[in-house]
Amino acid sequence: MTSAEFETAAVELLKNRSNVHHVVFGESCLGRPLSAFVIGEGAKSVLINAAHHANEWITTPLLFRFMEEIAEESLKNPELLKNVMLHFIPLVNPDGADLVIHSGGRFNGWKANICGVDLNSNYPANWHKAREHKFSRGYTKPGARDFVGEKALSEPESCAMAAYTTFFDIDITVSLHTQGEEIYHKYMDFNPPGADDLARRFAAASGYALTNVPDESSHGGYRDWFISKFNRPGFTIECGLGESPLPLSQFDDIYVKVSALLRELFADTHENANARI
Ligand SMILES: [Zn+2]
Repeated sequence: MTSAEFETAAVELLKNRSNVHHVVFGESCLGRPLSAFVIGEGAKSVLINAAHHANEWITTPLLFRFMEEIAEESLKNPELLKNVMLHFIPLVNPDGADLVIHSGGRFNGWKANICGVDLNSNYPANWHKAREHKFSRGYTKPGARDFVGEKALSEPESCAMAAYTTFFDIDITVSLHTQGEEIYHKYMDFNPPGADDLARRFAAASGYALTNVPDESSHGGYRDWFISKFNRPGFTIECGLGESPLPLSQFDDIYVKVSALLRELFADTHENANARI
């Protein structure tokens, strides 16, 4: 899904669903709007984002489809989102996704934003450790992957994500990536209340495996930052199996598993409606 297709789909959605609120919360390096969509008015704020990484853009239509489904369902069944406010950010890295999609395969290995910074290594969570690890593996300058940037939050996309998350006092975050059919929910020794339980529910609903990230791949990520800054549950979902960019032929299979996983957020929210976790 290119940024132009995404923007067209967003216009359609907003035309047809009065219960979806649109927030433009920043601009990409190339000036594309960074869009969030908010549904529900409950007390607990959940932020689900996709496509930090350019060649993982299949997560954008996945999250968009889920958002459309929930928008429609919640009109018929207001109870669905009684206790939750959902913030959807389906395309964190619009310029990078455009590069991969328009390149005819030449940039299939591109994960970074268009300035060559890996957005998911650019957050202030032991960013210097991330820099050390990546530099030791040769990623010392802007490029397709693993360059952490000149400093934490150097990029407009990561900076806007951190500001949005902080401003809306988000309680739980879920970041969609590809691939591996895995769920990451830990960062260092942090153990936010409710995280283990929700992770187990995600695993049971999707069939995805709960996995720990090795230290050399850790630090500087959006989830790392969220968990360590707020001590609240943050998750990375590695959708599908294969080599990114995953083919759209996997879409339906991934959607069944990931949408079941995301629906656990509502179940959890209802059961813990009175406890802010
Ligand atoms: Zn990724």
